[in-house]
Amino acid sequence: MVKGTAAVRIMVTMLSIMLIIVSLRLIYVSNIQSKNIIGTSRGYSGCDNCGDTWNWKKYHIIDYSETSGMFPLCEECYQKLDIEKVKHYVRKLAEKGNKSDRDDYNLEEMLEYAYKIIDKEKGGEGE
Ligand SMILES: [Zn+2]
Repeated sequence: MVKGTAAVRIMVTMLSIMLIIVSLRLIYVSNIQSKNIIGTSRGYSGCDNCGDTWNWKKYHIIDYSETSGMFPLCEECYQKLDIEKVKHYVRKLAEKGNKSDRDDYNLEEMLEYAYKIIDKEKGGEGE
């Protein structure tokens, strides 16, 4: 009987700990969601990968010329994603901008510039 009670106690304790972890996780997630809702309502755009908005998340600037840069991804996603994924998001954002009718907008030149920087910053990782 005593043994059984101990087992129940351990189970209850473990369940309590699990509940606390799940609750904390929920609070964390809903906190991020509210920050993103605030950001979107204020007109902030955000990370193309995770969707977190620039009013609170740090973005990673990728230069595409000597004077200009873009930020399709947050710092966290930029570090986390592999080179090909990062380039995919850079191209996606650059192509969006290409729809404007600026004469000085050379998509392939921009991408080449940006890709070189990405290779330099992220190269050698996991090879
Ligand atoms: Zn992100």
